[in-house]
Amino acid sequence: MATIAFLGLGNMGGPMAKNLLAVGHLLTVFDLVEAACAAVAAEGASIAASAAEAAESADVIISMLPAGKHVAGTFLGEGGLLAKVSTDTLILDASTIDAATARQVGEAAAELGIDFMDTPVSGGVAAAAAGTLAFMCGGSAAAFDRAKPILEGMGSSEKIFHAGPAGAGQVAKAANNMLLAVHMIGTSEALAMGEAHGLDPAVLSEIMKASSGNNWSLQVYNPWPDVMEGVPSSNNYQPGFMVDLMVKDLGLACEVAESCGVDNQMGKKAMAAYSAHQAEGNGPRDFSSILEWVKAQ
Ligand code: NAD
Repeated sequence: MATIAFLGLGNMGGPMAKNLLAVGHLLTVFDLVEAACAAVAAEGASIAASAAEAAESADVIISMLPAGKHVAGTFLGEGGLLAKVSTDTLILDASTIDAATARQVGEAAAELGIDFMDTPVSGGVAAAAAGTLAFMCGGSAAAFDRAKPILEGMGSSEKIFHAGPAGAGQVAKAANNMLLAVHMIGTSEALAMGEAHGLDPAVLSEIMKASSGNNWSLQVYNPWPDVMEGVPSSNNYQPGFMVDLMVKDLGLACEVAESCGVDNQMGKKAMAAYSAHQAEGNGPRDFSSILEWVKAQ
């Protein structure tokens, strides 16, 4: 079992840290919000007064922070953790951030001989609580071999992938979420068109699931209310995965595309649609509520 410093105990980090405790790891945790630390301490973690204090005696550091600036601030520069930890520390950043910052931290760590991986997740709050997250990892093969047994405490072993070198995890995450946005909008358009012609959206969904339009949104996350039980569309679009986070991820995907000269036209259209939907006050709602925006066009 490992001694782990866990930094960032929000909607995702809190349940991920609890799952690591449940499989027997020793955790010292730090978050800017005291109540977030207390909730994980109630399950057996120690609370540190700073990220540096949490990292002092840790074999592994896991961060789950909002954005690239928080990750850079935590690890880089004179006061950053890279300058403080021993070279045998394994660092796993599970936050969804820009690939450029992930590469920068990965390269700075490699220069010091420290194993760093960007390990963003897919699955959302429900999978974080259930311990069934997917992880897409960027870094060396040796770091991946060290990381996998730790990540298995928070995710499904068959969904832990080595995507490539530092930054590759973030590129994979951006690619996946861009595709998710595009097929959620496409699914919504197909259902809205069928329903406007008098088809039952539940019947049309079954037809498309059995045909070449089959996709994840139809299989497990149907955006049409009351076609499927237990999904956000059947619960007034309570998240789930918020529109705000989809806009964030599409912004990161557009940066990734631009930085390599790929003209991601569908991704940009999805970004415009989700941004317009967000501007109408839907940021905190589930991303499948884009169906309402599609119907209103
Ligand atoms: P959140 O806002 O609920 O939690 C972030 C936590 O980080 C907060 O508790 C905050 O106090 C803490 N924090 C901020 N700066 C810090 C610092 N310098 N040191 C220590 N703690 C600090 O966010 P979340 O929903 O848990 O998401 C975390 C990351 O996971 C984000 O990058 C997000 O894009 C990604 N993500 C979220 C979901 C989701 O469904 N919520 C799904 C996949 C990926």
